[in-house]
Amino acid sequence: MLSSNEYEEEFPVLKRKINGHRLVYLDNAATSLRPKQVMEAVTEYSLNHHANVHRSTHTLASEATEMFESSRQKIAKFINAQEEEVIFTKGTTESLNLLAYSLAISKIVKPNEEILITTMEHHSNFVPWQQIGKIFNIKIKYFPLRKGIFELDEYLKYINLKTKIISITGISNVTGQVIPINMIVEKARKIRKDIIIIVDGAQYVPHISVNVKSLDIDFLAFSGHKMLGPTGIGILYGKKEYLERMSPFLYGGEMIDKVSMEDTTFTILPYKFEAGTPNVEGSIGLAKAVDFLQQIGMNNIAQHDNELTQYALEKMKKLDFLEIYGPKNNLQSSIISFNVKGIHPHDVAHLLNEIAGVAIRSGHHCAQPMMTELGVRSTCRVSFYIYNQNEDIDILIEGLKKVWEWLK
Ligand code: PLP
Repeated sequence: MLSSNEYEEEFPVLKRKINGHRLVYLDNAATSLRPKQVMEAVTEYSLNHHANVHRSTHTLASEATEMFESSRQKIAKFINAQEEEVIFTKGTTESLNLLAYSLAISKIVKPNEEILITTMEHHSNFVPWQQIGKIFNIKIKYFPLRKGIFELDEYLKYINLKTKIISITGISNVTGQVIPINMIVEKARKIRKDIIIIVDGAQYVPHISVNVKSLDIDFLAFSGHKMLGPTGIGILYGKKEYLERMSPFLYGGEMIDKVSMEDTTFTILPYKFEAGTPNVEGSIGLAKAVDFLQQIGMNNIAQHDNELTQYALEKMKKLDFLEIYGPKNNLQSSIISFNVKGIHPHDVAHLLNEIAGVAIRSGHHCAQPMMTELGVRSTCRVSFYIYNQNEDIDILIEGLKKVWEWLK
C-alpha cells in the first residue's frame, strides 16, 4: 500500500477541505476517487490520439484503435479472460441488462426454466431479471435473506434441475457481506451441469482478485468508476461458448458483418455486442486504473479493505446508539451499513459532512428489497478503499458521537 502522503499526491481531492475539515471520503461503494495517473492517460489520449476506432486508416484512427484494443487486452488479463470475451459497456447496469435481454431473446433460458436471484441484489441485478421474466414468461425465484444475511446452505436449497440461471452479487452493496462464489459454483454445477452462473462484480472486482477461469463463472459484470476508473465504462465478461450463441442486444454500426435489404449478419466477438462508437477514453482510463490497482496488488487491497472494515466494526460496535447491519463474522469487506437509533440516515449523513468533512451515503442504496429484509426504509453506509486509513475511521467515530449528542 502507499503512504497517506503518496495517496494525497495521487488523489488531489484528498487534500480538499470540506467545511474546514480534511475530506474523509467513505462513499467508495457509490464511486471511487480518481488518481492523477488515470486522468492523465485519458487526457493524453483525448488531446493527442483521439479518433474513432475500427474505421479509418489514418494515423490517429490506428493509434486510437490500438489504444482501445490494448485496454481490452489489459482488462482481459486482469480477470484472466480471453480478449474476445471482454465486452465494453457503460457499466454493470448495462452489462446485466444486455445479459438478461440477450439470454431471453436467444432462448438460452426457456419459459419453463427458472432464474434464481436474491433479495440482497442491487436493482440492476434485480429489475432486469424481473422484467425479462414478465415479458418472456420465465419464472424468477427470489432467495430471501434472514435479517439481511445471506446463508449459503439455505441458498443452495433453492437450486434445482429447473434452475437455468443464477445471478448473484459477489459483495452485498448494503452490508458488505462477501458471498462465497466458489462454493456456489461448485455446488450448483453438481445439481445442474449447464447452469449459467452470473456474478455482479460491481463491488467485488474493485476489492478482490477475480480469475474467471478458475472461479468457473459464466458471466461477470463490473463498472470502471468503482475501481478508480472513469464513469460510463464497464465490462461484461462472458464465456465464449455462450456469447457466440447469444443474439446482440443493440443493433447498428460496428456489430455487423453484411447488411442488405433482405437481412443482416453479425460480426465476430466481442464487436457483435459493441454497436456504435464506444467510450474509447473510458476504456483507456479503466486500463490505467487496472495498472494502478495491480501495482498495489489485489491481495494487498483485499487485506487492507478487510482490516479497515474489521477496525471500523470493532469501534462502531462500542457505540450503543448504533444499529449495525451485516454478518456477525468477518465475511464482510469494505462496506458497513448502520443507523443511528431514532435519527434519519439523511440527517446523520448531512451532519457528518457539515461537522467533520466525512462523506458517507444514506438512502436505500438501490436495494429496496434488501431494505425490506432489514425492516428499514434506508440506512447510512460507509465504504472504504485503498486510500482510507484507520485515522479516517477515528474521525468518523468522533463525528458519530457528536451527531448522537446533538440529535438524540
Ligand atoms: N451492482 C452493485 C452490487 C452495485 O453496488 C452497483 C452500484 O452501486 C451496481 C450494480 C450498478 O453499477 P453502475 O451504476 O455502475 O452500473
